[in-house]
Amino acid sequence: MTDVSARPLAAVWSGPEGGFALESQPWPELAPGEVLVRVELATICGSDVHTISGDRPTPLPTVLGHEAVGVVEDVAGPVHTVDGQPVEPGMRVTWTIGTSCGSCRRCVRGVPQKCSGVRKYGHEAITGHWRLNGGFATHCHLVAGTGLVTVPESLPAAVAAPANCATATVVCAARRAGLSAGDSVVVIGCGMLGLTAVAYAREFGADHVIACDVDESRRELALAFGATAVCGPDELAVLAGKYGADVVIELSGNHRAVQSALDIVGMDGSVALVGSVSPGPRVGFEPNTFVRNLTRVVGSHNYTVDDLAEAVRFLARTPALDLFAGLVPDPLPLRDIDAAVAAAREGTAPRIALRMD
Ligand SMILES: [Zn+2]
Ligand SMILES: [Zn+2]
Repeated sequence: MTDVSARPLAAVWSGPEGGFALESQPWPELAPGEVLVRVELATICGSDVHTISGDRPTPLPTVLGHEAVGVVEDVAGPVHTVDGQPVEPGMRVTWTIGTSCGSCRRCVRGVPQKCSGVRKYGHEAITGHWRLNGGFATHCHLVAGTGLVTVPESLPAAVAAPANCATATVVCAARRAGLSAGDSVVVIGCGMLGLTAVAYAREFGADHVIACDVDESRRELALAFGATAVCGPDELAVLAGKYGADVVIELSGNHRAVQSALDIVGMDGSVALVGSVSPGPRVGFEPNTFVRNLTRVVGSHNYTVDDLAEAVRFLARTPALDLFAGLVPDPLPLRDIDAAVAAAREGTAPRIALRMD
């Protein structure tokens, strides 16, 4: 039950100049279909860092953060998880990064992440009704249209928190690229998403997973996560020629890496472009090659609630659980958000976590 003596606390962000301020918030008045979650742990995603750096505009003031796991404190009216369970206080959950209406053309066509009325956690201005709208707070106010997925108690919070961005984004990209058992997979960019992609592809039954990164320590991590070969950008074409490139997942966002992905994809292969989330230089391809090689290129951004459910199932079954836990150092308290953000910007670890006590 809600402890009325301690009001929710949020790290309200006022922009690159104003920064963060810890502010006490009123308890939200839940409208039908809404849920109040006590945040157990939140992780700082690369897109939070982009926003804080001023590279990604967002309405202000806001509560940043979307990678989080928490426990339901209150529910208004019947709300169900993706698998049909009634949402009840005490349930441990994660939730979709954005809302979807379920009835617009995009939702009906199977891309609810692009719902014409989407509202995204950690990416909306605070309003009178919706103040706790991000993960960097003791509580998060889930509005109607948010997809909820239960999280097993056995899953460490540091592993569960990135599920609703990093892991689910990888699951969606793999699905859109048509990843199949026996594939030779190339993963470009071995940060949080890339390491997840390596482990996911291996667990999916990929025969070969080539992991490419400019950074040697990241390449070593990729080997630990199950990559069968690793390389820097200069050696990628040779390795792809040797082992094949049925599915290429581009997570770095670097335009040269995108060009390389298009150049190395094999016969009847797919390229999933995931990392390019801000405008950059154009890249080229020679259409005759794509036609004759039966090439598919898919963009992939965010994910569906079913991808999120698969992401949580994957984290619950992966043999790399300890490795995932090792990507997140001991969490810092919310009041140290400036230090946490500084660590995230420096890239001292793939993810920096915030605890809410
Ligand atoms: Zn919709
Ligand atoms: Zn994210």
